[in-house]
Amino acid sequence: MTEGERPVNMVRHHNTNGEELKKVLIDSTGKTHVFLGAGKIRPEIKSEQRTVAAVILQPPADELFQKIESPFTQAVTDSLASTATFMDGKVLLVGDAVAGLRAHATAGTSQVAMHALLLKNVFENDASMKISGWDQKVLGWGIFAQKFGI
Ligand SMILES: Cc1cc2nc3c(=O)[nH]c(=O)nc-3n(C[C@H](O)[C@H](O)[C@H](O)COP(=O)(O)OP(=O)(O)OC[C@H]3O[C@@H](n4cnc5c(N)ncnc54)[C@H](O)[C@@H]3O)c2cc1C
Repeated sequence: MTEGERPVNMVRHHNTNGEELKKVLIDSTGKTHVFLGAGKIRPEIKSEQRTVAAVILQPPADELFQKIESPFTQAVTDSLASTATFMDGKVLLVGDAVAGLRAHATAGTSQVAMHALLLKNVFENDASMKISGWDQKVLGWGIFAQKFGI
């Protein structure tokens, strides 16, 4: 945390079509990945991204971007379960296991908190919710949040 030595992690989300995505995810040996670690991004892709950044970012953000020495990249994906309850409600999925949401939605922690808090309504003595109702509620919210992220 010393002034002048602070590390900064800068993330840019970029919408792309299938062809461009394939191009970005090919390493210098010609192999395709879903995640390219530091040092694996081809120089021409790095240079293209720097050119785009200079056009779309404000000067302080662009200065940071241009100084990134070892960028890494990955395809952003999400996941959605078709059910959150198994074995007659004895086994449940919660949180990311129900819906792994895109990072920019910043909804993952709210989602898992909601799942846990709603379970009180299922398991307390005068239960106001059936496990099937809980399942519907969490899947419905997962579908909404996934669409929102996309
Ligand atoms: C880099 C990063 C940044 C994020 N930023 C945000 C943000 O700004 N806002 C936001 O809302 N969300 C954010 N998220 C998402 C958020 O962290 C998750 O949505 C949330 O933690 C999901 O909670 P969970 O309980 O479902 O899963 P987790 O928090 O992943 O918990 C699962 C737990 O299970 C344990 N586990 C795994 N396998 C086993 C096993 N076999 N046996 C026993 N234990 C096991 C793991 O160690 C882990 O502790 C971020 C995630 C990442 C990775």
